[in-house]
Amino acid sequence: MFIEPRVEKGWIEVICGSMFSGKTEELIRRINRAKIANQKVLIFKPQIDVRYDEQKVVSHNANSIDSIPIPHSSKILELAGNAEVIGIDEAQFFDLDLPKVCNKLAEKKVRVILAGLDMDFQGKPFGPMPTLLAMAEYVTKVHAICMQCGGVAGYTFKKVHNEQTVELGEKDLYEARCRTCFNEGMAIIREQIKMDLR
Ligand SMILES: [Zn+2]
Repeated sequence: MFIEPRVEKGWIEVICGSMFSGKTEELIRRINRAKIANQKVLIFKPQIDVRYDEQKVVSHNANSIDSIPIPHSSKILELAGNAEVIGIDEAQFFDLDLPKVCNKLAEKKVRVILAGLDMDFQGKPFGPMPTLLAMAEYVTKVHAICMQCGGVAGYTFKKVHNEQTVELGEKDLYEARCRTCFNEGMAIIREQIKMDLR
C-alpha cells in the first residue's frame, strides 16, 4: 500500500492499470487521506468522462468525490490556486500537454496524483500516460481480475469491435483480461474482421 512521503516538496504520483483495477478507488483513498491531514485538495477530470456524474469522480464501487471537469490540461494551472494536492482522474483522456502541466505543478511544490489507463483496448500506451509514467516519482500499477480465467489482468479487452479508441462504456463494452486471454480475444476479432472483408 502506498504510504505518503512526508516532505514539503512537490512530486508526481501515477496510479495506472486496466479498467476495473481499482485506480479511482486508490485515487480517492489518497485524496481522502490528504483531506484528513487538512491539506487543500482539488480534483480534475476531462470533460469527456460523463459516465455517471458531471461533477464527481466516481469509482465503479460508487465511492465519489467532488471534481472539476475541464476541456484542456492548461485549465489545471489556471484553477490550481493554492491547492497543495491535485488529483487528476482519467488522465489518459487528456491532451499531450498534461505531463508539462504536472511538472509545473510539482515544481510549485504541489503533490500531483494521477489515475489513468496505461493501455488502450489494443494494448497500446494510452495518450499522455507513458510520458507521465516516465516522469513520476512514484508509480503504482493496480491489477484487475481476468474475467475469462480469474488470473491477474493488466489489459482492457473491448468486446465489440470498432476502431474508436475513446468509447465510453462499462461492463457492456469492456472486460479486464490477462495477457493470454487478451491475445486470444484479439485473434478472434482479427479473424472476424477478415471474414467481414470477404
Ligand atoms: Zn485470463
